[in-house]
Amino acid sequence: MNCLFCKIAAGNSPAKIFYDDKEIMIFADIMPRAEIHLLVCPKAHYKTLLDIPDDLLMKVINRIRVLATELGLEDNFRLILNNGAHSGQIVEHLHFHFMSNAPNVDLRFKSQSIGKS
Ligand code: 5GP
Ligand code: ZN
Repeated sequence: MNCLFCKIAAGNSPAKIFYDDKEIMIFADIMPRAEIHLLVCPKAHYKTLLDIPDDLLMKVINRIRVLATELGLEDNFRLILNNGAHSGQIVEHLHFHFMSNAPNVDLRFKSQSIGKS
């Protein structure tokens, strides 16, 4: 499948990786529209919120909670989830936009691609 985020998940396309585990990855949006603009998504390919299994969705949400807490952004972050082309979804691999305009947050990226840390 010719999916950009699947390629990032497989380590076949570069991205500034902030976090990844077996099922989830967090990386910098290539065209940030906020001081902090990360994309949080399952590694497995699901197109929209209607496709992802409940248990995995809950893991993604919990990871976002941890992310907000670790960055000290408990009361200063925004989530956007576009579903389908008419909503503005360009990359058809489910991803939450995690955004904040908090200044001076020290984002420590762990690698330039998955599997290369
Ligand atoms: P969507 O409009 O599908 O919700 O958001 C797709 C996001 O992916 C956009 O914010 C866009 O900037 C980002 N994006 C597109 N191509 C790349 C890429 O090659 N690498 C990264 N890291 N982000 C990308
Ligand atoms: Zn994909």
